[in-house]
Order: sequence, then structure tokens, then C-alpha cells
Amino acid sequence: MTRAVLTLNAGSSSLKVALFPETGDQPLAVGLADRIGPDGVLKLKDATGAPLAASGDLTSHAGAIAAVIDSFRAQWPDLELLAIGHRVVHGGADNTRPVTVDDAVLTDLERLSPFAPLHQPHNLAGIRAAMAAFPGVPQVACFDTAFHRTNPKVSDSFALPRALYDDGVRRYGFHGLSYDYIAGELARRAPHLAEGRVIVAHLGNGASMCALQAGRSMASTMGFTALDGLPMGTRCGQVDPGVLLYLMDQKGMTAAEITDLLYRQSGLLGLSGLSNDMRTLEAAGTPEAAEAIDYFVFRCQREVGSLAAALGGIDALIFCGGIGENSRLIRARICERLGWMGIDIDPARNAANDAVISTDQARTTVMVIATNEELVIARAARAALGLARNVAE
Ligand code: ADP
Repeated sequence: MTRAVLTLNAGSSSLKVALFPETGDQPLAVGLADRIGPDGVLKLKDATGAPLAASGDLTSHAGAIAAVIDSFRAQWPDLELLAIGHRVVHGGADNTRPVTVDDAVLTDLERLSPFAPLHQPHNLAGIRAAMAAFPGVPQVACFDTAFHRTNPKVSDSFALPRALYDDGVRRYGFHGLSYDYIAGELARRAPHLAEGRVIVAHLGNGASMCALQAGRSMASTMGFTALDGLPMGTRCGQVDPGVLLYLMDQKGMTAAEITDLLYRQSGLLGLSGLSNDMRTLEAAGTPEAAEAIDYFVFRCQREVGSLAAALGGIDALIFCGGIGENSRLIRARICERLGWMGIDIDPARNAANDAVISTDQARTTVMVIATNEELVIARAARAALGLARNVAE
């Protein structure tokens, strides 16, 4: 019997999947259903990287889940799904850990959809489709916001009238599954550092930073939505709210138009006029691409400074995410102006993508750790089954 847990990360038109065995960190299979709709494509591969035959109805998330399972069943005819773990962007103010979903929980999570209208409905649609396809199999929701619920009040509020805080207008923070993984991995690799003041830079298509004190989130760059903080592939990052008032009042833009501008037309894409993809910008060599990179680096430097101030110092800086794990250029550029906080990276270690890229003499350790949100979800799904022993693995 192949006993396994499935992880699902449902986006607006995509579904990221991973199949993990009952124990252990290596997935049996990973894959992505992309462009769900008339042009849907599904790619799955096994642990060796060999493609798995995959086809089916990719016009909906439900269809994509069925196609994924059909492919896994063809590969492992004795497959038994123990639990399904879901990435859910918003857990609100109260969810501090993963929860097993029933109808009441689902209704509760639906109430949070106005806070994350571009993501939450799709995440919940994925859960609903999985519940329908696998009645009786536990469905576990893992929240991007949960890890930050340890933030002190100064970190999770805005200077707005108090009633709005009570209404849910707070800084929730996101990328929590990634930070959870990195905090655990750091504790395993360098326990003395994990006990200290650590800034984690999750730099991918979505980008944020988190300040950890003894492994607990104290502050992060994302706020009420996943728009705030660092510039991203197509999201703006920090922007003066007065700009939005100007766009509404003077330019007559609607909420939908501003949403599109801030989420899909801004960030690296907006600045470069070329691409949201850092690799493309690094290769482009145009003045606009260089400016977009300069802005990204500058904002990263500012936020490291800000989070270090929030922590009262810094013992380690950790890079993760597609850019953080792979771009030697961006890591070097960010670090080159942070010498004043004891950051000094070794060019050869950085070029080699080493796990530790700081010099031996540096006061602050700089590391590169590949994040693994899927594993955090799989562990939560196992834990929900009472297989807690695997959580500590
Ligand atoms: P997401 O937030 O969608 O999960 P990723 O974490 O996969 O995104 O990060 C995607 C980003 O990482 C893209 O901007 C991509 O160009 C960048 N990236 C990946 N590899 C490299 C590399 N070798 N050099 C520079 N940027 C890279």
C-alpha cells in the first residue's frame, strides 16, 4: 500500500501539487497544472524528475485535481491518500496554526475572502473540490498569515482609528509557510543563530522579509495584503496611500483598475516595462531593466535596515525564494551596502550558491536556504492525522 499525503496550492489559474509519503521529506511526485481553463496544461514528475503521464479535464480546479489523482493512481495503483493539505492565503487574526477543515471552518474562511479577494476564493475552491472528490479524507488548511500571529501589536496595526483594527484592518503578514520552514531549518542547521535575531528575505515573484526573534515572527514587510513592502514581479510593494487617492480622485480610476495596476502592472514589470522575471531583467541590459533592479535592491536594503531596527540588531540574514536562492547578483548587490550591520559576503561562496555565503570574520552570518512550503503543508497534514512524530523529523 502506498500511503501518502497530498499538498495542494490552488491559485487563480494554477494548481501546484506534491505527493509525500507517509514519512520522510522527499516527495514521491510534484507538479503544476497551469492556465486552468480552455488552454490548461498539467505537468507531473516523479522523485527522479521523470515525467508522469498526465491528462484530463483541465478546465476547472476540480478537473485538474481529478487529473492529478488519475495520474498518481496509474503510477501507484495501491495509493491510499491519508490527508490533503492546502495552502490558504488568509487565516485571519485567530488562526495561529493549521486547522482541519469542516463545513463550519470553510464558512469561517469564506468570511475572510474580502481581505484577499484575488487568492482566498481560489484556495477555498481547491478545498471544496478536494472535499467532494475525497469525502472522509481529512483536509488541512495551512495559512500564510498564521506564522505572524506572534507579532506584537505595534507590528500588526496601522495608525488608523481603533475601530478599523477591530474590523480586521491589520497587518497580517504573508509567506508564513516559507518562514516557518526556514525557522525550522535554521534551528536544525545552526541552533545558536536560530535563538537570535534573524531576517529572512523571501525573494521570489512574490517577495517579503520577516524579522525573527528566537524563531518567532516579530515583524514583516507585507501587511494587510500581499501588496505591501518590497516591490515584486508585478506587485508594487510600498506605496504612499496618497497615490491611490490621486488615482481615484484625479484620474477617475475604479477600484478594479487600481487593483489591476497594483497587483499586475507594477513592480519589476512596471518599472522595467519589459518583464516581471528577474532573470530576464538581469540579461536585458536596458537602462529601464537596470533601474528596476536598482529599485528592487534599494528597497531590500531599506527593509533589512528597518527590520534590524525592529529586532534591535541582527545576527543572521537568510535568502530564500527563486531570486534569493539563485541570483548571485541580487544577493551581492543587497549586501554590498549592509557592511555597517556586520554583513560581509565572500564572493566565491556567493558565486557557488553555498549554504553560508558570509566570510568567516563577518559579525552577521548570511545564508542561502532553499525554502519548502510544500513540506510544511505535508507535515501539517500528517500532524493532523496524529502522526506527530513526523512533524519533528
Ligand atoms: P514564486 O513567488 O512565484 O514562487 P519563485 O520563488 O519561483 O516565484 O521566484 C521566481 C523569480 O526567481 C523570478 O523572478 C525568476 O527570474 C527568479 N530567478 C530564478 N532563478 C534565477 C536566477 N538564476 N537568477 C536570477 N533570478 C532567478
